[in-house]
Amino acid sequence: MSKLHPCFVGICYNISNMQEKKIQLEDIVSFAKRRGFVYPGSDIYGGEAGLYDFGPNGVELLNNIKKAWWKANVYERDDFVGIDSAMFKHPRVWEASGHVGGFSDPLAECRNCHHRIRVDKELNILGVEADEKLNEEQINKLFDEHRDEIKCPVCGHKDFTAAKGFNLLVKSNLGDFTGEGKRPVYLPGEACQGIYLNFKNVVDTMPVKIPFGIAQIGKAFRNEISPRNFLFRTRELEQADTQYFVAPHKNKEAFEHIKQRRWDWYVNDLGIKQENLKWHQHENLVFYASDAWDIEYNYPSLGFDEVEGVHDRTDYDLTQHMKFSGVDLRYHDPVTNEKYIPWILETSMGMGRCFLAVLADAYTVETLPSGETRTVLKLKPELAPVKYAVSPLLKNKPELVEKAREVFMALKKKHGNVMWDDNGNIGKRYRRQDEIGTPYCVVIDFDTLEDDTVTIRDRDTTEQVREKITTLLAR
Ligand code: ATP
Repeated sequence: MSKLHPCFVGICYNISNMQEKKIQLEDIVSFAKRRGFVYPGSDIYGGEAGLYDFGPNGVELLNNIKKAWWKANVYERDDFVGIDSAMFKHPRVWEASGHVGGFSDPLAECRNCHHRIRVDKELNILGVEADEKLNEEQINKLFDEHRDEIKCPVCGHKDFTAAKGFNLLVKSNLGDFTGEGKRPVYLPGEACQGIYLNFKNVVDTMPVKIPFGIAQIGKAFRNEISPRNFLFRTRELEQADTQYFVAPHKNKEAFEHIKQRRWDWYVNDLGIKQENLKWHQHENLVFYASDAWDIEYNYPSLGFDEVEGVHDRTDYDLTQHMKFSGVDLRYHDPVTNEKYIPWILETSMGMGRCFLAVLADAYTVETLPSGETRTVLKLKPELAPVKYAVSPLLKNKPELVEKAREVFMALKKKHGNVMWDDNGNIGKRYRRQDEIGTPYCVVIDFDTLEDDTVTIRDRDTTEQVREKITTLLAR
């Protein structure tokens, strides 16, 4: 590292004097579209509720989050393996899991405009503890007590039908050629069922011994009544799940470890600020669960809400699949010779909600000492969609462009997503890269042609250093 090129002096700011602005969800939504992170699904047709597409910068960030998750939950563990199961499954799977009979949200319809609301979520907005696990009688009792306070978000009337359970499974006709829907199959209501279905396969084919875990990232589909709040509630989603199989009653200590590990992942691996995270313990447990916690993130405009569930599920899942499939799913302990149905400790994270938390946490609007503002995405460098941006100082000087292309291609070969950026002046290029979180901008100037050094500008400090190209490529 050495002196700065004179061209760049004056573009470095005193970061400690900057002020940050409070961010709203709509800022993130418009930013995400404008900078190629997330587009509304089927945008050219006017969009489709609850569906989103990840753009070029978004898919890189998403993949980096997935890599960080896989690293922490598979590669850095000696008691975990990963799988990737088929999305479609035998229809009986969803009967065994309870989804055909009981995977429903409480829905009420506005008598005036026929808009439908999810009653538990409307009650939550009023500060009333309610969720989809309440039965119809319980939810309607709470609904009746608060009807005066719940307005239809479309027409403003307060005249709703009673709440009724609405099944969230999405049906399909894969492999059904009758045209009569006689054998409906379902898109996955949750990704984790693929893990339970493969428990026996993994035990039979891999060197695993209880306690051990299986990890998977998979898609899920839910007929959400009111998809809203951007990636927070969508109809197509992705879940990153771990299921840890333990001997009966050996759940408590392992559960505490798992909770701690998941918390640490958000803070250390994703760099999310601790003050934006909190634990929430479930008050209403499903009948088989022994404990359930959510990790909540403080989403802009929404406040704290669930990004991941950590559940102590006892032996319910494998017992159900054993009953419905008729296959013995008991584990044979090679040491004690006992046979038992393992208990399961689950972590289930919504990838879209995690992506939104990472984006919102990193999104910063700073007022510079000059009074100007800059938007900067303060992502951990490992998560940044673009690792380096490379520019020739002047794009009409072929010798600079040629040298810059050489550095660009060498960096690209090493780091993958490196961006060529020669549009506008250097200040504009830096701002553009700050906005998408590029940790370093590399500029090739006339000195480069003499001494093979380049300027490297740091996103967070805005400081610039000179470095030999060989040193840069060895980073
Ligand atoms: P909620 O109460 O918010 O509907 P849930 O408790 O039904 O969520 P789970 O079934 O435990 O959620 O799913 C695990 C994770 O999947 C959640 O923590 C969340 O991050 C994510 N998730 C669930 N439903 C959605 C959705 N409609 N859109 C986006 N992510 C979702």
